[in-house]
Amino acid sequence: MFNSNVLTLTLLSIIPFISQQAVADNIEKPSVPKNIIMVIADGMGPAYTSAYRYFNDDPNTIIVEETVFDKHLKGLSSTYPAAISGYVTDSAAAATALATGFKTYNNAISVDVNKKPLLTVLELAKQQGKKTGVVVTSRINHATPAAYLTHNEHRDNYNEIADSYIDQGIKADVYFGGGRKSFIRSDRNLVKEFQQNGFQYIEQYEQLNSLDITNPVMGLFADYSLPWAIDDNNKHRLTPMVNAAMKHLALPENNDNGFFMLIEGSLIDWAGHDNDIVNSLYEMDDLANTIHYLENFVAENPDTLVIVTADHSTGGLTLAVKEEYIWDPTVIRTMTQSPNAIAIKIVDHHKSANTLPTVSKISQWLNFSLSSDEYNQLTQVQADYKVARAAYELLSAAEKQHLADEYKTPTFVGFYQKVLMSIIDTRSNTGWTTSGHTAIDVPVFAFGKQSEFFNGQLDNTDIAKKIFSLLGK
Ligand SMILES: [Zn+2]
Repeated sequence: MFNSNVLTLTLLSIIPFISQQAVADNIEKPSVPKNIIMVIADGMGPAYTSAYRYFNDDPNTIIVEETVFDKHLKGLSSTYPAAISGYVTDSAAAATALATGFKTYNNAISVDVNKKPLLTVLELAKQQGKKTGVVVTSRINHATPAAYLTHNEHRDNYNEIADSYIDQGIKADVYFGGGRKSFIRSDRNLVKEFQQNGFQYIEQYEQLNSLDITNPVMGLFADYSLPWAIDDNNKHRLTPMVNAAMKHLALPENNDNGFFMLIEGSLIDWAGHDNDIVNSLYEMDDLANTIHYLENFVAENPDTLVIVTADHSTGGLTLAVKEEYIWDPTVIRTMTQSPNAIAIKIVDHHKSANTLPTVSKISQWLNFSLSSDEYNQLTQVQADYKVARAAYELLSAAEKQHLADEYKTPTFVGFYQKVLMSIIDTRSNTGWTTSGHTAIDVPVFAFGKQSEFFNGQLDNTDIAKKIFSLLGK
């Protein structure tokens, strides 16, 4: 009895010491992955990954199938910005935290609260002779990619940010995404300047297959962001971009120091701002397809670390909103075009025929049968829109200017889109609390070499700090 107590006491006092020491050793000298892939799912809070699980579920089996996100969950991350911006972050401050390890004010692009530039993990990787690449579904000069590539006091300085991709020195070997309007302008043609620096330039997904993989490349596939995944000519358009980037970055003949790549599923957030559950899920599906691709890449290149997280959650998405214990994505699973695309078709029909398309026509576009009640909601749109538009026209120019962005200016398409989204929300029992961001923690996923380094409760700045330490800083 006495002996065993002594043993227990001894073990208790030694074991924590040993394990803490082991953890400390691990943090000081991590075995360094050659390649690091940072994936940001913009706006993808925990409700999104739950929604995607049920959306992805095969209703013919008893189990709810595990998703590619579930499989690699490591923990949660807090997202709050610098104190001056409170607790609710925007994508710029969050991307700055993830890229530099520092909290800053909302709208800042990798500058601190005093507007001083902060070193980013991509910049350090480049300095270390790694290849670097950025693959996104919004513009390549949007807040998230910009926070890895440059420094600016405000995310909205799109032209300045684009200019800096040349003027601060070219920092990446591969740029894929949207943003032609910022790079080909009347005052400056940055694409030409990239080409003068040895870059290939493409504008079509098909050209991804015919690139010279020994030369750097810029691909701008849209004027601004890419179309919604569900409406694009390839619903999984992120994977071919990542695959083409990988051919360049991972080619040992190009460089044997490995690479750092940023991938962003940018439009999950935009769907969240629209409170559009259909686009939220199909944008996630595009990203999930890419994560499957990355799993295969890691299996063949085990010297690679993949980290996946969100910068914040958007829309206050919730699964079940009325008092029923139901969340039912059945109608969403079979949709083949976004509410926005269907609204455009309705308006086009209206313009030519001066009436609403028939219930069977709209049902065909939605791929589910509208009830007469639902159809009636659509017949109200024209009158509601006229009232809203008349009220809008009464505003002063300054008030209009203040309202004038794609979310607020009343458009005929926007009105139909809202009604279609509301029909789908009611069918699925989906709820939203805001058209902005929320302050809740976001999931962190990782796989590959040193992925356990990202276990537990983290802050978004920890993710950059850990990447810096894996890069030996
Ligand atoms: Zn956002």
